[in-house]
Amino acid sequence: MLDTELDDEQRDHAETILESSNALLAIINDILDFSKVEAGRLELEVIDFDLRIAIEEVLDLLAVRAQEKGLEIASLVEPGVPSRVKGDPGRLRQILINLVSNAIKFTEHGEVIIHATLDQESEHLSTIRFAVTDTGIGIPKDRMDRLFKSFSQVDSSTTRRYGGTGLGLAISMQLANLMGGEIGVESEEGKGSTFWFTCRLEHQRGADTEEEFPLEPIEGQRILVVDDNQTNRAVLSQQLNRWGCHCEVVADGRSALDAIRVRASAGTPFDLVLIDSLMPEMDGQQLASAIRADAVLGDPVLVMITSSARRGEASRFHELGFVAYLTKPVKRSQLYDCLRAALGTRRHGESEKPQRLITRHSVVERKKYTKRILVAEDNPINQKVALRVIEKLGYRADAVANGMEAVSAVKRLPYDLILMDGQMPEMDGIEATRIIRQGESGAKRRIPIVALTAHAMQGDRDRYIAAGMDDYLAKPLQPRELAEMIERYVGDGTTVPEIPKERPGKGSRKPVFNRRALLARLDNDTELFDELVQVFLADCDAQFGRMRSALSQRDATSLSRLAHTLKGSALNVEAGDIADSARTLEASAAKQDWELVDAALKDVELALQKFKSVIVVS
Ligand code: ADP
Repeated sequence: MLDTELDDEQRDHAETILESSNALLAIINDILDFSKVEAGRLELEVIDFDLRIAIEEVLDLLAVRAQEKGLEIASLVEPGVPSRVKGDPGRLRQILINLVSNAIKFTEHGEVIIHATLDQESEHLSTIRFAVTDTGIGIPKDRMDRLFKSFSQVDSSTTRRYGGTGLGLAISMQLANLMGGEIGVESEEGKGSTFWFTCRLEHQRGADTEEEFPLEPIEGQRILVVDDNQTNRAVLSQQLNRWGCHCEVVADGRSALDAIRVRASAGTPFDLVLIDSLMPEMDGQQLASAIRADAVLGDPVLVMITSSARRGEASRFHELGFVAYLTKPVKRSQLYDCLRAALGTRRHGESEKPQRLITRHSVVERKKYTKRILVAEDNPINQKVALRVIEKLGYRADAVANGMEAVSAVKRLPYDLILMDGQMPEMDGIEATRIIRQGESGAKRRIPIVALTAHAMQGDRDRYIAAGMDDYLAKPLQPRELAEMIERYVGDGTTVPEIPKERPGKGSRKPVFNRRALLARLDNDTELFDELVQVFLADCDAQFGRMRSALSQRDATSLSRLAHTLKGSALNVEAGDIADSARTLEASAAKQDWELVDAALKDVELALQKFKSVIVVS
C-alpha cells in the first residue's frame, strides 16, 4: 500500500498502521526476550549505528500515542554525545521504548523527554546516560525498589487501570547491565518520574565528529523559534545553533511579534520563523496572520510545526502564508531538508514559491526505502540469498519465479534494478529482458538488469549483454559480490556492508555437506543458514518426486532440467555429494542412457539421505 499513490494523510495513516504493528510485535518479543534473558541466552549484537537516528526512531514510533494524549514528546541529545557508535541498536531502542512507553502510559498532562548526555569517554568507548523524564503520576518512595523485579507493578489497581505485564523494567535492567550500564529511577509522587540508564558504546572506527549535513545552505540564517514548550525550544535552538544559524527563541506570539519588529527595524530581519501551531493565547495561525498583516515586520519565511496535520489543514496553512510544515517530533534530517527547501523559496524569489506546501513527506529523502529491486529467479535458495542480501542493504525487494512474471511485475511497479536468472521455466531471462527492453524503447527510464547465471563463460556473457542486460553475476551467489553489484547500480556510493569474502576451503574433495563454507558465505547468518537448509530439504524432496515420475515417463528433457536445478541448489548449500550425483544424472539423462539414469537417480537418493543424516546429527 505504501508503494501506491496516497495523499499525505493516507500515507500518514498507513505508516501509523505499520508502526503500530511493529510495536505489537515488540510486545511479543518482550515476552520471548524475558525468557531468553532468564535462561542466560541473550546475546548482544555489535554493529555500527547512528545513535541520534536510533533515538529519533523511538520517538517516531511512540509519538502518535503521546500526541493522542496531548503530551509533548521530544529528545535532547547533548552535543558531546557521539553519533557514530557501535553496539546493539535494537536492544538500546528496546530499553528506550520500554521507558518512553511507560512514561506516556503514566502521564496525563505535560511532556515526555529523552535526554542523552555523555557520562564518560575514553578513546574507544563512551558511556552514555539516557534519562526519560515525564510529568506523570510518579512513584511512591516505598515502592521504588521493587520496580525492576519481574512481574512487579506499583499496585494492583494500577494494573487494572493501565494494563501491562510488569516485565518491561526487568528486561530493561537486564539489557542495561548487559551493555555495561545501570538503571535507576528518581520520582516524586504526583510530579513525575525520571527513569535513567547508562550503557557503554564503542566508537566506530574512523568516525569523526564532522557534521553530516552540508551547512552552506542554512548557515548564517537568522531564525526565530516560537514555541510555548521549553524543551522544544531547547531542542530546536540547540540544533539550529549547531548548524551555524543565528537563532532566537520566544515562548509566545506577542514576544514573537516584538522580536520580529526589533530585528526588522535594526536592519537584520529574520529569514525564517518556526512556529508551533498549538500555543495558548495566540496560536500559530493567528501569529502568522499578524506577521503577514504588518508590513513593518518584513517578509520572513514561515514554517509551521504541528503535532498532527488534519485533512484540509495543509491547504489552509498554505493560504495563511506558511511555505512548509513539519510534524512533531521533528527529526533532524527533516528539519534540515525543510529549512533548505523553505529558504530556497526565498532565494529564488517570490515568483518561484512552490505550489505545494513542503511537508515532511515531500522533504524526507526516502533514499533507500524507496529503491526497489526485482529478483527473477526460480531457484528458491538463490531467491532467498538475494532477498536477504537486499534486505540487509536496506532496499525493498520482490521475487518472481519466471520471465513472464518478471515482465508483468515491471509493468506494475517502477523497479530500480532487476536481478535476472538466465534459465527459468516458461520464459527465460534473455527473452524476458528482450521484452522489457522493447517496452522501454522511447522511454526515458532504462532499468538496469543484472544476469544471474551458472554459466560462467564468456560466450554466455556476450549473449546476455546482446539481449540488453547490463551486467552479470555468477552463481552460486556470493552475498558480498551481490551487495557490491547492487550498490553499483542503485547505491548512492556511501556504504557497502561488511560481508566477508568466502575463504577457500582446504582440499578439493567435497564433503557431504560443507557447513563451514556455507556459514562463511552467508556471513555467519545462522538464521538464514537454517532457513536455507530447510528450504533446500523441502525442495529436494519435491524435486526428487518429480524426477521419479519423469523417469517413469522416460521424459529425458524434464529429467535433465530437474537434475540441473537440483545441482544448482545443492551447490548453493554446499551439498557436494548431491551436486555431484545430480550432475551425473543431468548428463546421463541428456544422453538418454536410461541405465545410467537409473543408477544416477539412486545415487542422488543416497546423497540426499546422507545429507539429511548429517544435518540431523549436527
Ligand atoms: P508494565 O508497564 O508492563 O506494568 P514495567 O516493568 O515496565 O511493566 O513497569 C512496572 C511498573 O512500574 C508499572 O506497572 C508502574 O506501576 C511503574 N512505572 C513504570 N514507569 C512508570 C512511570 N513513568 N511513572 C509511574 N509509574 C511507572
